[in-house]
Amino acid sequence: MPELPEVETIKNEVAPQIRGRRFVGVELFRPKAVHEPSPEAFCQRLIGQEIMAIWRRGKYLLFRLSGGQTLILHLKMSGVLLLRDASCGPENHTSAIFRLDGDNDLHFVDQRRFGAMWLTEDQNRVVGKLGIEPLGPSFTPAVLGNLLSPRRVAIKVLLCDQHAIAGIGNMYADEALFAARIHPLKKANALSTDEIERLHRGIVKVLQGGIKRKGASVNTYRRPDGGTGKAHLEFQVAHRRGESCLYCGSPIQRVSLRGRGTHFCARCQPDGA
Ligand SMILES: [Zn+2]
Repeated sequence: MPELPEVETIKNEVAPQIRGRRFVGVELFRPKAVHEPSPEAFCQRLIGQEIMAIWRRGKYLLFRLSGGQTLILHLKMSGVLLLRDASCGPENHTSAIFRLDGDNDLHFVDQRRFGAMWLTEDQNRVVGKLGIEPLGPSFTPAVLGNLLSPRRVAIKVLLCDQHAIAGIGNMYADEALFAARIHPLKKANALSTDEIERLHRGIVKVLQGGIKRKGASVNTYRRPDGGTGKAHLEFQVAHRRGESCLYCGSPIQRVSLRGRGTHFCARCQPDGA
């Protein structure tokens, strides 16, 4: 699933190409992807609007439009945004094609078909309840500690809770916990001050590293030009089940936590629940 570094990369790479351009048509192949308004109104209202600004909040992409509305996309499990020549039609799994004035268009391709779109006057209805941005200036070890102290859930579960911290998912949670040498099942409220500081550093480090390497192409993720990211080449535990820990040589373990595969090194991240 695309997480903060993948969505940030997509934003960084599409923004300079589409800012200031107008929607001239919308081809919708999966109307169910539109959560607000009706699919017909979604297509009609986009046409003629100029893209004024593009930003990311958590795992959401937001486009401020000249008419005052905001187009919001969530890529969910497998969505990608591709910039394609204006002559290109849909491929398998294309949910929508946004035709823009100029030479190329934006294709929303979504193999698993969970991706979602909104066109709204009030972005807070979609992103208003998201937690803190982990790469923002207000994310400090003290703030992280305040988020953890009342929570008895496994720290891995809390890291993936979008209402607590926005943008971290399965891969980067595993990587951050390995960087901090914390067992993923340790209770959030049981972390020491030292562990909280290590975890804070680990979160920032793995997310910044993911952005620097343009995201992790482990599953369907592609960059807007169709190219791959390289973040997965640096992964220490995520997607490495059975491979050797790069620090101690122990085999990377996998457990299922709330239905998600959780990867860790039992020696580097000792169980101290
Ligand atoms: Zn190890």
